[in-house]
Amino acid sequence: MKPLILIVEDEAPIVTLLRYNLEREGFRVADAGDGEEALLVAAERKPDLILLDWMLPLLSGIEVCRRLRRVPDTKNVPIIMLTARGEEGDRIRGLNSGADDYVTKPFSPSELIARVRAVLRRARPSTEDEMLHYGDLHMDLAAHRVKRSERDIHLGPTEFRLLRHFLEHPGRVFSREQLLDTVWGPDVYVEPRTVDVHIRRLRKALNAEQDDDVIRTVRSAGYALDAAGALA
Ligand code: CA
Repeated sequence: MKPLILIVEDEAPIVTLLRYNLEREGFRVADAGDGEEALLVAAERKPDLILLDWMLPLLSGIEVCRRLRRVPDTKNVPIIMLTARGEEGDRIRGLNSGADDYVTKPFSPSELIARVRAVLRRARPSTEDEMLHYGDLHMDLAAHRVKRSERDIHLGPTEFRLLRHFLEHPGRVFSREQLLDTVWGPDVYVEPRTVDVHIRRLRKALNAEQDDDVIRTVRSAGYALDAAGALA
């Protein structure tokens, strides 16, 4: 059975865009246009995941999130908050109210879908297959294989671990130090510049001539898996 995603959003063009992209990726979709409808649809349809806008008529996304968490039936449903606000305080409030993740608008559909898959995988690790996806990138963890579109990508062990880390946290920016800690391990002493060398190898392997670069360099901050073309 395909997972059911409930979109709670009052802006029709965003609902249309999300529905189109989610259905194309094989999800079933339900939607609700305000906070009260969201609670009704969530109780009735029992979605596998909820995409919940922060700014909603009748009840705010935060309030919807709190109420969903109070009811046994929806207590454990994964929730991704959509927010136009970039302030750190709001993000923390969102996560404190029980959201599993948040995505800031404007977002790219491929980033959002990667987040949906990541949150679903965390929610039910035993039933999800061992695949990571981002746009046209696919990583098979069991077979230790990577594909971009239909092209096989051959990676060294460090590049494979780097890419896996990015695929598990699409769109997030990681500093060289953070990548060293998580990909190389906290006890390994390597120069931060070593990260650049492996990022370069990873880029070279992933990006054939006609492809977009999927790795974004963030000046003085680090790197992220991030495709161009975010929704404005
Ligand atoms: Ca809204």
